[in-house]
Amino acid sequence: MTDCIFCKIIKGEIPCLRIYEDKDVLAFLDIAPVNRGHALVIPKKHYADFTDMPDEAVKQVFVAAKKVADGVMKGVNANGFNLGMNNRKVAGQLVMHAHVHIMPRFEGDGFKLWEGKKYLEGEAKKVMESINKKLK
Ligand code: AMP
Ligand code: ZN
Repeated sequence: MTDCIFCKIIKGEIPCLRIYEDKDVLAFLDIAPVNRGHALVIPKKHYADFTDMPDEAVKQVFVAAKKVADGVMKGVNANGFNLGMNNRKVAGQLVMHAHVHIMPRFEGDGFKLWEGKKYLEGEAKKVMESINKKLK
């Protein structure tokens, strides 16, 4: 993908602060961290988002993410971390090259998670059935 910023990082055309690399995966510091040590783990091949990734790439990225998360935690003395993936524009994906966020957490860092909503009466069962059908 010629106009993809993360493909340009992989090719070395744009600099990054690399923290981990293997033949299939690259991890580097996010340029606008939610907390210090916020990292991105990306497949070296261009896939638009999670569902676009073949199983092999999912495995490569998540196995690397586990390793990177451990290194990030220890490297910045974090107390925990959130693993995140924004998929498609409506979900806040800005860079259309699949990537996993590793966001270190510190006691009292004020980072807020999403709020839960309530289902209407009977709605959850319909939703479950609809999803079940798609997964058969
Ligand atoms: P998303 O909203 O999940 O698509 O997040 C894209 C992330 O990429 C954001 O957190 C940005 O701060 C980060 N980002 C964009 N450009 C760069 C860059 N050149 N180097 C490092 N991180 C970047
Ligand atoms: Zn790309």
